Amino acid sequence: MAYKFIDNYRERGARKQLVALLKRRGIEDKQVLEAIGKVPRHYFFDETFWNQAYKDIAFPIGDGQTISQPYTVAYQTELLHIQPGDKVLEIGTGSGYQTCILLELGADVYTIERQANLYNRTIQVLPYMGYKPHFFLGDGSKGIPDHAPYDKILVTAGAPFVPEVMLKQLRIGGVMVIPVGSEKEQKMVTILRVGEQEYERIELDTFRFVPLVGDQAW
Ligand code: SAM
Repeated sequence: MAYKFIDNYRERGARKQLVALLKRRGIEDKQVLEAIGKVPRHYFFDETFWNQAYKDIAFPIGDGQTISQPYTVAYQTELLHIQPGDKVLEIGTGSGYQTCILLELGADVYTIERQANLYNRTIQVLPYMGYKPHFFLGDGSKGIPDHAPYDKILVTAGAPFVPEVMLKQLRIGGVMVIPVGSEKEQKMVTILRVGEQEYERIELDTFRFVPLVGDQAW
């Protein structure tokens, strides 16, 4: 497939304004803001909708799914405290935008999507943009045990509970960020694995994600 991506002064300017907006909304991590300033979010939109790409809104990407709101992406990423070289499991590749942010921060990303159409698109678009995560197609509610343990686990869909099997794939000292709640709204939860059987859990703000669907989910 031939992709034609253009990142001109209009899009670069809009991206700067988005970064300024996220700062005003409380995102403080400079590296996260820098990553958002680098990744061309309009590449994940049909050209007709490029004028929507730098608004702080979620947007449909087909198959009933959305590209997450930039604030949500920044918020979840900030909570992960990504260090270069971190092995990160991302559940819900979706458009691949969040994946690119993690890669910009120097993470080694294992990303899984359950919808074949979205998976097929990202395996073409991301490498074309120069981003190379490890792509998987399937039910990520069980994590990806074959490649565990992970330094960080990020779930980008709303879960009814924290899947035990996923927790076990976190390295001791590792962090998971997962929205947990009803199908309508979820609390952002961070979990630090402090020992073989010990975890520290913190509940934060309320968000609205599309549901995590699968064996250990809805
Ligand atoms: N991070 C994405 C982005 O930047 O575009 C947004 C993700 S969207 C809010 C949530 C994604 O999770 C959807 O693409 C959905 O198909 C996917 N999903 C839901 N349940 C899943 C599961 N069990 N395994 C893998 N992906 C899942």
